Amino acid sequence: MSRFLRKAYRSLEVYVPGEQPRDKKYIKLNTNESPFPPSPEVLEAVANEAGDLQLYSDPECTALRKTAAELYGLKPENIFCGNGSDEVLNFAFGAFCDETKGMAFPSISYGFYPVYGDLYGLDCAAIPLKDDFSVDPADYFGLDKNIVIANPNAPTGMLLTVPQIRSILDANRDNLVIIDEAYVDFGGKSCLPLIAEYDNLLVVQTFSKSRSLAGARLGFGFAQPEIIADLNRVKYSTNPYNINRCTLAAGEAALRSQAYYDRNCLTIIENRDYTTQALREMGFEVLPSKANFIFARHPQICGETLYRTLKDMGILVRHFSREEIAAFVRITIGSAEQMRALVNAIQTILAGGGN
Ligand code: PMP
Repeated sequence: MSRFLRKAYRSLEVYVPGEQPRDKKYIKLNTNESPFPPSPEVLEAVANEAGDLQLYSDPECTALRKTAAELYGLKPENIFCGNGSDEVLNFAFGAFCDETKGMAFPSISYGFYPVYGDLYGLDCAAIPLKDDFSVDPADYFGLDKNIVIANPNAPTGMLLTVPQIRSILDANRDNLVIIDEAYVDFGGKSCLPLIAEYDNLLVVQTFSKSRSLAGARLGFGFAQPEIIADLNRVKYSTNPYNINRCTLAAGEAALRSQAYYDRNCLTIIENRDYTTQALREMGFEVLPSKANFIFARHPQICGETLYRTLKDMGILVRHFSREEIAAFVRITIGSAEQMRALVNAIQTILAGGGN
């Protein structure tokens, strides 16, 4: 750390992304990426766009927002494009919270929320989950804080219904409610239709999961135009060309390849059902997931040992050392072949054969 670093960054506990090891080829089930490549149309669009990389990208993301607006039945003014949904979340924390208005979120959720909270010096409330690891909407009534909830939640995969979200919005008319729908396409129901009704709702989505574009970095914020204009104030104060040309082209083509991605989501749901059932048959508790990952624990093997043994066997899953969830591993749902390999490896480990 240099002596020049500003105070706010000195004690900050930064976000730790899932590991991306290069030492050998793993079956990678640790960062909730898609096992499927981008659609052929996306690959073609990126190749075509690359020839124009000497030119700046469109800061207004006009074509992408227009295509998205048509797909979702919204207006372009309802849509903000971010460099990954992480950027949308970052801008939202920066735009809408301050020393008088903090942020509330589930105590077990996406690890970036408390990092943004610290970065902006916010008074954050981490609200415990219920004993079954679900979010209780009533815990978010009357807090006088902005709220961010991942739905489905991560790393549990558990889903709130649209009426439950509505109850949080109704009880928080003077607070901004951010619903982070990173994993909504794997069996959840989006609350995008609520945007017309609620001026306190910001829905955040990503192209990193169901649309196979984690490496392109693209996310959306959806809200009433005033909220979108505020996010643009932050963007135009930091990085107006936040989305590069190839990613803009990839995003637009991805929206036009909806049928391809819908099929992939159905496959992930099938593979999730297979893996959940196979793990339950081996004695695991598997939380009911509507995401492209499952969260599971076994009475006879601790999460860390399972993670390490699987890694030695060439399969990467995610383990979190926080006490309340240390018994669990989070397993991204990949291809059928990858999930069969995982199930076989865990069978071997439980039979005492793991190295
Ligand atoms: N929200 C949640 C709940 C996530 O798990 C992630 C992915 N780690 C993100 C947002 C950010 O995704 P991205 O920046 O790739 O869009």
